Amino acid sequence: MRKWIGMLLGLLLVLPLGAQEVPESLVCKEHDRIQTQLSRRNNSGVKHGYLIDYNRCKWWVNPIKGAYFKGDVVAHFTVINTTDSVGFDLSSNLQVDRVYGMGGQSLSYRRTGNQLYVFKSGGWVTGERDSVGIVYQGNPSNGGGFGYFVHDNHMKGPIVHTLSEPYGAQYWWPCKQSLHDKIDSLDVWVYTDTSLKAASNGVVVRNEVLGDTQRLMVWKHRYPIATYLVAIAVTNYSEYTQYAPLVGRTKPLPVLNYVFPQFRVDSERETKDVLPMIRLFDSLFVPYPFEKEKYGHAQFTWGGGMEHQTMSFMVNFSYDLMAHELAHQWFGDMVTCGTWQDLWLNEGFATYLTVMTTEYLKSKEESYGKLRGMRSNITGNDDGSVFPRDTLNVGSLFNGRLTYNKGAWVLHMLRDKLGDSLFFEGCRQYLKGKNTTYGFAQTRDLEFYIEQASGRNLDTFFQQWYYGEGFPYLKINWKQKGQTVTLGCQQTPSHSSVPYWHVRIPLLLRGEGKEKLVLWEPKQLEAEMKMAVDFEVDTVIFDPYVRLLAKVSVGGMNLNKVQENAFVLFPNPTNGNFVLYARNPSAVVMEVYDAVGQKVLAIDTKGRESKQLIVSLGDLSAGTYFLRINDGNFVYSYKLLKN
Ligand SMILES: [Zn+2]
Repeated sequence: MRKWIGMLLGLLLVLPLGAQEVPESLVCKEHDRIQTQLSRRNNSGVKHGYLIDYNRCKWWVNPIKGAYFKGDVVAHFTVINTTDSVGFDLSSNLQVDRVYGMGGQSLSYRRTGNQLYVFKSGGWVTGERDSVGIVYQGNPSNGGGFGYFVHDNHMKGPIVHTLSEPYGAQYWWPCKQSLHDKIDSLDVWVYTDTSLKAASNGVVVRNEVLGDTQRLMVWKHRYPIATYLVAIAVTNYSEYTQYAPLVGRTKPLPVLNYVFPQFRVDSERETKDVLPMIRLFDSLFVPYPFEKEKYGHAQFTWGGGMEHQTMSFMVNFSYDLMAHELAHQWFGDMVTCGTWQDLWLNEGFATYLTVMTTEYLKSKEESYGKLRGMRSNITGNDDGSVFPRDTLNVGSLFNGRLTYNKGAWVLHMLRDKLGDSLFFEGCRQYLKGKNTTYGFAQTRDLEFYIEQASGRNLDTFFQQWYYGEGFPYLKINWKQKGQTVTLGCQQTPSHSSVPYWHVRIPLLLRGEGKEKLVLWEPKQLEAEMKMAVDFEVDTVIFDPYVRLLAKVSVGGMNLNKVQENAFVLFPNPTNGNFVLYARNPSAVVMEVYDAVGQKVLAIDTKGRESKQLIVSLGDLSAGTYFLRINDGNFVYSYKLLKN
């Protein structure tokens, strides 16, 4: 799921998603109601007592008339433990008309809050397979609040659409709302007005007009699906199919688009961009997970996108939004986060695969720009972990800076640490894992599969980057004397949860038209390293290829270029001001560095004609400083003492 924070403030404008350079703030569709839902995140209040095998959902929905709708949902299940009741999640706002068993006989039921318990005489025994049907009706948008079931208008027609993540399914249908058990097989029947079409999961197997007044569309889906990914959207859609050729297959994958009729021409041009993305993810990771059916988009009016299985719901078809929701088909839909605390397994991957799409299909430079933007967003605050510490807090759970951006950066650094071939092999094993494929995964599963593929122990990596808060501040200083370059590093962790960050610092030494990339892993908070360099270094650049999440400053000089005694300065020590005599004050660049090599002051000498220059050390604290003067030919260095 991907959402603009601005949308939460009530903006219903269609913003140009993805057109910006600054890191976007991504938050999930949430509102106060979620707070109470989150407290039951493991559904501790509900004892379902069964494994769900199949749902056949019949829904009567007509947005021309309003949000009011009727449903008849059948659940086929296998009983886990002998029980007198089976439980469903269903909002108390919806009226239940009848509950029936496999033979059509009425069953008794009891409603407790948002749970519905169904009873049959003799109960159910372990291993028994049975079904229960629930006939109900109501106005779910009254109970669903912000976004679970929305009746809206897209300017050229009314629409009803659903978006259940994370706790909204029960607001519009009786279901087993959990992250433990996927629906193995699903049929969705939508009865609506003849002028409308319904979008849903899987493929259309029936689309017919009944008695001139009603259209029936039946969608069949034969892959396991998490409850929150079941969705419908009904409006006067314009429909077209495009095809994504896949590597090694003769048949392309159909991409079915249901778009608002007024945007048909633009949409048809824009959605073409998703075709090479499908081929990219399909060949980088594992084959598109729902290949026997389709991929697709259905336009809706919520301000973002939602990765409904085989048919993402989209506010528009911007490049990055399409990449993000497509990526979820692998990361989120095929393999679904096993608890909401593992939400980054959905959102971190989807965010990172959007960067990868840019890297592979546009340019590396552009992907660096995205990564830099995300890095400055993440390091804008000193605290925060990818692991949500307070799961009752929606802001922390669906936090764009942490769950999305930092999650993506953690994957980026994992890839850098292991190299492409081991990283992608680990991801493939995670997607194909016996316990994860078409099921659920927790963070420890990702660690397990990547460790298995790479043979590396990643405990420290996950400990600091997943559980740990913040990032390292690094002060790098350098000097060259003769052919020896000395690098110094002073690390300050931004948050006490990680006392020391194990990082590899990329530094690019550059001068005389040559360069040398150094990857340095300091072993303590303050470290120094010497190395031989066969050219005169002018500058040292931190992380030119954007590989480390840190906030860094670099300072230093080449002592081979320093000449003494060309300038005169006094008094030294000084209480604040000193005077510098120079032959040509307008031609020099002057900078003041502190004792650890950080630049603290730049002095502008442009336009000065006097040979005498008064320099103020201003607010600098007492201590030792170094004045560095560059007259265009030589660099001069003086030690300064401020009392
Ligand atoms: Zn997402």
